[in-house]
Amino acid sequence: MRDGLLDEFVERVRAESDLLTVVSSYVSMKRKGNRYWGCCPFHHENTPSFSVVPDQGFFYCFGCHAGGNVFKFISLIENVSYFEAVKIQAEKLNIPMPQRKKSEVEIIKDQKIADLQKIHEMAGDFFYNCLMKTSYGIPAKEYLFSRGIHEDIISEFRLGYAPDAWDKLSMAFLKRGIKQEFLVESGLAAQRRNSQGAYDRFRNRVMIPIADERGHVVGFGGRVLGEGQPKYLNSPETVIFNKRRLLFGLDRSHQAIRQAGYAIVVEGYMDAISVYSAGVRNVVASLGTAFTSEQCKKLLRYAPEIYFSYDSDEAGQNATLRALSVVRETGAIVKVLVVPDGKDPDEFIRRHGVDAFRALVKAALPLMEYRMQYVLKHVEHSSLEGKVKALNALLPVLAELRNAVEIHAYVVRIAQVLGIDEGAVRSEMRRFSQHGSSAGEPMRASIRQVVRQKDDAVRRAGRIIIKAAWQDTDVLMHLKSVVPIEQFPNKLHVEILRFLEKQEMCGVLPDDITAAEELSEEAASELSRALVEDSDGQEVTEAYEDSVTSLRKVYLQKLFDEHSQKADELSRGGDSGYKQELAESQRIKDEMDAL
Ligand SMILES: [Zn+2]
Repeated sequence: MRDGLLDEFVERVRAESDLLTVVSSYVSMKRKGNRYWGCCPFHHENTPSFSVVPDQGFFYCFGCHAGGNVFKFISLIENVSYFEAVKIQAEKLNIPMPQRKKSEVEIIKDQKIADLQKIHEMAGDFFYNCLMKTSYGIPAKEYLFSRGIHEDIISEFRLGYAPDAWDKLSMAFLKRGIKQEFLVESGLAAQRRNSQGAYDRFRNRVMIPIADERGHVVGFGGRVLGEGQPKYLNSPETVIFNKRRLLFGLDRSHQAIRQAGYAIVVEGYMDAISVYSAGVRNVVASLGTAFTSEQCKKLLRYAPEIYFSYDSDEAGQNATLRALSVVRETGAIVKVLVVPDGKDPDEFIRRHGVDAFRALVKAALPLMEYRMQYVLKHVEHSSLEGKVKALNALLPVLAELRNAVEIHAYVVRIAQVLGIDEGAVRSEMRRFSQHGSSAGEPMRASIRQVVRQKDDAVRRAGRIIIKAAWQDTDVLMHLKSVVPIEQFPNKLHVEILRFLEKQEMCGVLPDDITAAEELSEEAASELSRALVEDSDGQEVTEAYEDSVTSLRKVYLQKLFDEHSQKADELSRGGDSGYKQELAESQRIKDEMDAL
């Protein structure tokens, strides 16, 4: 059901949106003539094939054929639905959503979420000001500076300080009219056991705001200053703070993850901040808990590969193995970044610099390789018992490999290093595959492939006609008298022209919103291409005439073939009707020659 209010809303957002501005906030675009070019954010490339024609309001990538209007762009780049994209853009432009009648429960929940977001934002400001503008903050600032975190990074991440006192934040917030129960509910304060009051959860800690993907602060991580315990303390779970789902830093890094094609997952906030600040931006941290399948799925929406860079101490190694077993079932491509001599990424960058870190990223080990090195180092494998144990530790990863050449290479190596027969490795692998656990269907990331589309002069001519008809639907009258829409050789063109015809009959101008709603994905992409593509410097009307002529030729050729074939059949069957068919095909031939 179409909803008038909603349509109006979408149209208003669309009218106030400027595609080029939106695109330019993600991609650097250069002007050439009446169009802009940049490197496509949806597939990896070094020469720009991604284009925007601002007047048309469409983008198109000549490499991966992504195309559409401003909402389509946002939905692809933010990995959200088309309507989510409209809402994101409306939020940016401060256009209020028309309100559907909500149930009582929904209203209460929405209000709760809004209140929680608000109080976290306030707390973020409170901690930031304590760090930067009060004398309590001095030791915390010194600590951060000593770790190489200076004011620019502090303000970029809005780091803060929770003072070494029981109720600084609680008192300040109560004074501002926030109810004590809500303070406790938000996790910023805790109820005193023996009295009515509440006390601050975070005390004498460097505060790290944790945001959701949209950048709303939803919780905090606090690192104690000095020797207190625990070293790291997180906000408790609330409606907006779910540790299994959140990844620290994703609000800043998702573009970079999409562009790089992989995400680097580190263990701690400080690692993520350090790696990001050093210029490696495709980094996130899991929230002090084991890496979860929810987090994995979230990352896979942006890129198909995940690199783990956990600490190289015992605990870090175990965390890596646990993470790997979570990820394996999702079909993600996993690599492991090995940081030498027991360092975490933060320490490593501070000591050796970011280029050395980039070199580690480049040298990240495929899962199987990492597992092999780990097993050979940690499992005694000189005795027969040891060999069996080592092989058993390798089988789960080996059995996941899909590439026969790769499998063969590893089987040979495993046989060699363990000093056993290749055949034995293979039969153990088969046995494991049959009885071992079966992995689920691998999930696919939304990274687009460069696709070579079949394209030729006729298809191009079709697009020129579409462009002309888009600009002025009156063209359709003429077009239909020359080539019936159904006779267009390209099925996508038939779909688009039918859509334009329908708009014309309803007496409305075609627009990108309706096009996005009514056309198939492929047809919408082809339409974008038609509108973004250059007609080799020709005027649209001139290009249109040439194009109609070439499509008329194709059409006539088809008619000619049909009539000739018919004539042939009739004459072979002794039917005199063949003369009429022959005359018709001759007439067609004459017209073709005259074109
Ligand atoms: Zn592309």
